[in-house]
Amino acid sequence: MKVQEKSQWEEEIKAELADLEALSQKRHLVTSESAEQSWLRINGKKMLNLASNNYLGYAGDERLKKAMIEAVDKYGAGATASRLIVGNHPLYKETEAALIKWKRAEAGIIVNSGYTGNLGIISALLGRGDYVFSDKLNHASIVDGVVLSRAKHQRYRHNDLKHLESLLQKAPADKRKLIVTDSLFSMDGDFAHLVELIQLKEQYNAILMVDEAHSSGIYGKNGEGYAHHLNLQNRIDIQMGTFSKALGSFGAYVIGKKWLIDYLTNRMRSFIYSTALPPAVLGAAKTAIEIVQFEPERRASLQTNARYFREALIDLGFDIGGSESQIVPVIIGENETTMMFAKALQKEGIAAVPVRPPTVPENEARIRFTLTAAHQKEDLDWSLNRIADIGKKMGLIG
Ligand SMILES: *Cc1c(COP(=O)(O)O)cnc(C)c1O
Repeated sequence: MKVQEKSQWEEEIKAELADLEALSQKRHLVTSESAEQSWLRINGKKMLNLASNNYLGYAGDERLKKAMIEAVDKYGAGATASRLIVGNHPLYKETEAALIKWKRAEAGIIVNSGYTGNLGIISALLGRGDYVFSDKLNHASIVDGVVLSRAKHQRYRHNDLKHLESLLQKAPADKRKLIVTDSLFSMDGDFAHLVELIQLKEQYNAILMVDEAHSSGIYGKNGEGYAHHLNLQNRIDIQMGTFSKALGSFGAYVIGKKWLIDYLTNRMRSFIYSTALPPAVLGAAKTAIEIVQFEPERRASLQTNARYFREALIDLGFDIGGSESQIVPVIIGENETTMMFAKALQKEGIAAVPVRPPTVPENEARIRFTLTAAHQKEDLDWSLNRIADIGKKMGLIG
């Protein structure tokens, strides 16, 4: 047998990587230290953290850390099996009870992550021939769930309800129809139009699924989420969200009617065929649920910081798109310019993350800033001065 010097695989893959590099789309892992804090370290360099999803600061919270340690002591390091085998340790029941009470939901279930949750939910509910209507800017995990379900993928223009309705009109009456949307869009920081989406789903006999990954913990009187903020929670069929962003640790949940959660428990393959979360993770999730409801001052600080930062960027002349939240994009356009801007910010000590296609549409590359409740006003002013200087030098603003 002839030993190949260089396989076709290797050549093709290396060529693809070189293409990514040429397009300024190649990604590199860097090690971040103390990312749970407002100031982190990357390659030993201290930087202002305007990139994490730790919106309320719970990732570094002593109470969550303590709960994790206690859970390890009591229940061990790992869950040993999937939940339907013997991995359903006692903290699941306690955490799900706390979740249901907080959200005032009929039923709910904890799943391993937002990503695997979306994969599992969508592929359990729909099959070949069914229809999914999905906002163009929905998170990748929703897109992947749709692909896995084999349902017909109808993507409507971002928040364009007329477009959505025209697609709904064309779908056969006898097929299952799911409308799915992020409540707060992860790369744009704007909100879905839930009232109108509910009207459409009722009119066209569809069901509505809302992903609250970036809004759970943050909106609503007790941080229940954006659906609760608008008092629409009982009119949305499926709400999912995560413990990995504002709630500071990891894991995700789905809430809805009992029959629905029952069905998902039996049908979500990403739930059935994956080991349950480690007890420590449930310890953190349960504690976060218990405290987030009673700490509205964190939500208020987050809103104050986010508003301040958005208004300052607009005053400077930056394009922040439709952001109305703690997610604030500065839309640049070209990948290369965006990379240059990000590198200049990083050099000045701002951990700015460039977001490029395919995560966002072509020619909409951007820096995605995220605010947290823990940011100090002087830190924000310091960063805004640097952002302004670099923006002027690069000719991005006047
Ligand atoms: C982050 C995110 C997810 C994935 O959640 P993980 O818990 O990180 O896997 C799903 N949906 C949206 C909208 C997200 O932003």
